[in-house]
Amino acid sequence: MTAGEGPLLPCNRLIMDELPSFYLMSLGCPKNLVDSEGMATLLRRAGYGSATDPERADFLIVNTCGFIESARVESRAVLSELTRNKEPEQRIIAAGCYSQRYPGRLAESIPGLDGLIGTRRWMDIVDLVEQVEARRDRRPASGPVTHVSHTESYGRDPAGIVRGAIQGATAYLKLADGCSRSCAFCAIPIIKGPTVSRPPATVLADARTLDELGVQEIILIAQDTTNYGRDLGMGYGLTELLADLVRAVPQVPWIRLMYGYPSPTGLSDRLAETMADHRQILPYVDLPLQHAHPEVLRRMRRPANMDRVRRGIARLREAMPEIAIRTTFVVGFPGETEKEFRTLLQFVKEIRFDRLGAFTYSHEEGTAATALGDDVPRQVKEDRRERLFAAQQPISLEKNRALVGKVLNVLIEGEGEGVSVGRSYRDAPEVDGLVLVETELPIGQIVPVRITTALEYDLIGVRS
Ligand code: SF4
Repeated sequence: MTAGEGPLLPCNRLIMDELPSFYLMSLGCPKNLVDSEGMATLLRRAGYGSATDPERADFLIVNTCGFIESARVESRAVLSELTRNKEPEQRIIAAGCYSQRYPGRLAESIPGLDGLIGTRRWMDIVDLVEQVEARRDRRPASGPVTHVSHTESYGRDPAGIVRGAIQGATAYLKLADGCSRSCAFCAIPIIKGPTVSRPPATVLADARTLDELGVQEIILIAQDTTNYGRDLGMGYGLTELLADLVRAVPQVPWIRLMYGYPSPTGLSDRLAETMADHRQILPYVDLPLQHAHPEVLRRMRRPANMDRVRRGIARLREAMPEIAIRTTFVVGFPGETEKEFRTLLQFVKEIRFDRLGAFTYSHEEGTAATALGDDVPRQVKEDRRERLFAAQQPISLEKNRALVGKVLNVLIEGEGEGVSVGRSYRDAPEVDGLVLVETELPIGQIVPVRITTALEYDLIGVRS
């Protein structure tokens, strides 16, 4: 996915030789995508043209993901391929989480790399590109690369940069960077540092800009959206922001909340009431719980009071009976016994989540969990993940069957050969299901669809 495209027309250096150009590829999560858009905007503002084809750009920038090993493997593969295929005069830069976490290792494994910039310093991309350009003739054939220092925490957002990324009719809007939790398995706080919330006024201003650009859905993202604002010390948090947002952008029909945290303050009555009070806020929440056995949760250094979690979920369902709740779990965490896993399995059957994701545990260097020993065999982890999915499948199908005959609003995202495909309020992009509609409908519009058929994860319907 390239973030080089945007409101400005892409420039092609073959036809505009005097204007250096960049090609930017964004890997990983929507939070990275927002940073990619920020870098692209800064470069365009500084006079660089954005190219949609790597062969036609002076600078190749990859916004890497370094969250887990499989993401690092993908980042290295992309960088290696671009380095192999590039012309000698083209310059290549690695940005993002991988560059932040392992700059030395990345420079070693990609010998042709010209520059590195960590995720906390995305706003310095123009400086880095200029530095790389300045030493164009002096850089030896292999290293050292130009590296923007990355140890400081996030700086202020540069003026006039919208911290959002538009994908079709949907925009991701970033509320904060970093994470102040201390989950034992997670490297994000090491990579990104503590939570730095964006001031409410700038979040609201960005939402208005996205509204003016015609988006139909704003997805609020952060490592932990429910912790929004605490570091600002203003007594202003997520619920206040949600209430202000619906006033700021009354025409945006869908506002979706991702990545909550199941603490008493995160999963609060107030959140349930605020969501229920405002029709624009979709009755949908992504609440990664990671596990359900109190001992495993204690080892994970996460909230372990499952009765409180149950009450929180019940409150959400009381306030919004139609709410779709998504969660994710980690299986095979150090010391996870069969009995502990069965507690998780039972919990999944009891709560009947609408959407469920599951990951197998692996050690991440520098995290607290590495002291525990990765003692669950790989095959056992895989089996447990499959058992979790097998438990969820009939629940998902039953929930989908209950929707047959009902009308859901669907945001159309693609069409062709007599069908359209979109998402309802129950589906976040990329991670949840789809609704197939047996008609070609205009992309980017929300249309009512009568559900006719339920599949395990997806739905089929006709225009109502
Ligand atoms: S809340 Fe999420 S991002 Fe933060 S440490 Fe825990 S798992 Fe990592």
